[in-house]
Amino acid sequence: MTSKSYKHVFGPVPSRRLGMSLGVDLLVPKTCSLDCVYCESGKTTALTIERKEYIPADNIIAELDDHLRFKPQLDHVTFSGWGEPVLSPALPKVVSYLKNRYPFYKIALLTNGTLFFLEQARKDVLDVDLIIASLDAVSQEVFKRLNRPHPSLDPDRIIQGLVDLRKEFNHELWLEIFIVPGVNDTDKELRLLSKSVKHIGADKIQINSLDRPGTESWVKKPEKSDLERIQSYFDCHSYIGTETNRGVGASHQSVPDESLIFNLIKRRPCTLADLMKSTGLSKENLEESLERLVSDHKIYSEVMERGLFYKSI
Ligand code: SF4
Repeated sequence: MTSKSYKHVFGPVPSRRLGMSLGVDLLVPKTCSLDCVYCESGKTTALTIERKEYIPADNIIAELDDHLRFKPQLDHVTFSGWGEPVLSPALPKVVSYLKNRYPFYKIALLTNGTLFFLEQARKDVLDVDLIIASLDAVSQEVFKRLNRPHPSLDPDRIIQGLVDLRKEFNHELWLEIFIVPGVNDTDKELRLLSKSVKHIGADKIQINSLDRPGTESWVKKPEKSDLERIQSYFDCHSYIGTETNRGVGASHQSVPDESLIFNLIKRRPCTLADLMKSTGLSKENLEESLERLVSDHKIYSEVMERGLFYKSI
């Protein structure tokens, strides 16, 4: 099996929650209804709630066919990447194609949940197997500071959209709360979040925090000593903290494909270990390619708690 670099399909990447996950990006960088301070894809350059086919569904399907004809072992095909996937009406078209042509793959959607107040947006996601939606703030002030939303968005309307989605969507719905110390970790905001989360009735709640370099350098991880207090506001949550140990297994390519490596780093910062798991390449091969990408000024490195991360320029 060979691994190619595509424009809209990336990975597979080892995900903390989804195992080996093949990413599908329906957008151009970086199109989102929010501009979160912790975003690992960088600053939002097109802050919008306009739903349109940013990339034609056929282009995405062609890349998926090219990759999936090898029937790779995957835990999920996941819609994520540069921004908010629900902005694109290509989503239901690609989901329907995958369900018909490759029914053995589970489909996941990572979404910021901001567009489910629209009936059509809820209809468009009904066939995916797992939705992981974010909800980081309930009060206007915290929402604005943390998620820097499109001006038309309002937290009450977003929460009602998630409540409606829960009623209409028959598969797994998880909620993710990203904690940014000093912003949404006050007792007041956590109480509001806890109330809203109960109202929505998701199958699982996950508390997340900074794992890779975020958009704003002041965003930090919560102190370990504070995690118990934060978690006590929510029932049976899992705190996301460790990467999956699974990788692609035996190396499926011995010659490094620099565009594939760059494509992964462009979407989110990666450590050498992340890249070894995703590509199956040896440490030595990867180090050589990374050095070249650094000297070509395409990427740079930054030390974080989890190690040395490579980030695109
Ligand atoms: S974290 Fe998600 S919702 Fe927030 S700006 Fe980045 S892509 Fe958009």
